[in-house]
Amino acid sequence: ADPLLQVRDLSIAFDTRHGPLRAVDNITFDLAPGEILGMVGESGAGKSLTGTAITGLLERPGHISGGEIHFEGRRIDTLSKDAMRPLRGRKIGAIFQDPLTSLNPLLTVGKQLVETIQTHMSMSKEAARKRAIDLLSEVGIPAPEQRVDHYPHQFSGGMRQRVVIALALCADPKLVIADEPTTALDVSIQAQILALLKKMCREHGAAVILVTHDMGVIAETADRVAVMYSGRLVEIGPVEQVVKNPRHPYTKGLMGSIPVVGGGLKRLTQIDGAMPRLTDLPSGCAFHPRCPKATEACTRVKPSAVKVEDGQVACLLYEGAQ
Ligand code: SF4
Ligand code: MG
Repeated sequence: ADPLLQVRDLSIAFDTRHGPLRAVDNITFDLAPGEILGMVGESGAGKSLTGTAITGLLERPGHISGGEIHFEGRRIDTLSKDAMRPLRGRKIGAIFQDPLTSLNPLLTVGKQLVETIQTHMSMSKEAARKRAIDLLSEVGIPAPEQRVDHYPHQFSGGMRQRVVIALALCADPKLVIADEPTTALDVSIQAQILALLKKMCREHGAAVILVTHDMGVIAETADRVAVMYSGRLVEIGPVEQVVKNPRHPYTKGLMGSIPVVGGGLKRLTQIDGAMPRLTDLPSGCAFHPRCPKATEACTRVKPSAVKVEDGQVACLLYEGAQ
């Protein structure tokens, strides 16, 4: 099948008084229809910015400084905010960390669902309300015929995120960008909400980009994983392969902090140090100050993404290795 989404050499920069800062650096990946891609990395690695660029919601001083984004075969990175608006909601849904940022506190959840459904689909008010109630039931809201007329504050955090999932999917989008959708929730319900997100997207045929700093979340949910570090996509591949046999030294370190079944969070290895600030990115490979495999060349040469059998990796150890 043709890819749903193609991201080609995408760069995102911030204009500052001292010149542009590159926060996302030349990243390339595809997403197939219905596929769940986990995007993992530390805070500031460029994951959320990438998701935001795809939804067309980057705010100045941030902007796309290079590359292209194609959605359903159509170039979208050059579209104006106005031209992107009908795509958002209809074709591309979004779920954020805090359910309250996606919901209007002054409107009942039913009114918000009906409004979004009617904006994007030609449906009578009655049919849209019926669809809203069905969706609330699908996401596991008890007594949806009553709850549809309640306001966001009348729901618990977990129930509210269920409503947000219903809202993101109510116009049957082809892609959902979910940015840390469970981070703000109580740990005891995070797995439930993730499972629900996965089930709903599968049933509605939506592909997902799941942005998270938590490799355990990816392992549970995603088909493929993209690992970001300092604005670069350092590795991408099928989730089993990346979890069992990570290639990039940074991914190996991340895998050291994956939760093990029945054993809580087990840190097998630890990556010393912190991700560098954008204002002083190291030369060559940005990971070299923390990399146990770094050589002198790594301080000079910036690795480019190399295709490996089922994915890609950006590390000098793999360049010319094929
Ligand atoms: Fe480590 Fe060098 Fe590979 Fe960077 S390029 S990850 S420093 S081995
Ligand atoms: Mg983020």
